[in-house]
Amino acid sequence: MKEHIIPHDYQISREDRHKKNSHNSFLMWFTGLSGSGKSTIANVVEQKLFQKGIKTYTLDGDNIRKGINNDLTFAPEDRTENIRRIAEISNLMIDAGVVTLAAFVSPYKKDRENIKNIVNDDNFVEIYINTSVEECERRDVKGLYKKARAGEIKNMTGISAPYEVPENPAIEIKTEEVTVEDAANTIIEYILPKLKIESNE
Ligand code: ADP
Repeated sequence: MKEHIIPHDYQISREDRHKKNSHNSFLMWFTGLSGSGKSTIANVVEQKLFQKGIKTYTLDGDNIRKGINNDLTFAPEDRTENIRRIAEISNLMIDAGVVTLAAFVSPYKKDRENIKNIVNDDNFVEIYINTSVEECERRDVKGLYKKARAGEIKNMTGISAPYEVPENPAIEIKTEEVTVEDAANTIIEYILPKLKIESNE
């Protein structure tokens, strides 16, 4: 069937959308253990961008795993499919001119590499939220570590499933050393040139 899918030539390009929005679009991918601080930091980054008039959207477990990916488990092959679909959704969001933030554990290096292939290298900013498993377990925001220790959750990243540390992330945040505010400012500083904000004055 694939050979019969012929793309239509739409007249509004990504560049047209960027011009209209006065900024570029790309994907910020937050990876790290559960409870490391991905959503907390992404949320503050998004608020700061929103205040600057940037069009943004955040994808996370709540709006993806409960919706489009509610057929997927935490087994390795489903985790891979989970990330692939999120990358494809991100690709559409980027095309639509939206600065996209994605906060997912995404423990496998090959899956994160695949995101880059889907959205293109220069649209991908990998942000490693580096928090030790001990600290994540101490925070235990969602009570998942306790359940994992009790054997109620299998495939818990950091406990009974691996987390492959990013080798060369664009940004690394050590949350045991910096505040949420400082982390968000570091990220904003890094992405500011990438936004290519055009002044309309
Ligand atoms: P994740 O999205 O990675 O699963 P969350 O953002 O839901 O993690 O939870 C992280 C928890 O850690 C929050 O309760 C947050 O307030 C807390 N926390 C403490 N210090 C920091 C920090 N420096 N950066 C991010 N989160 C922090």
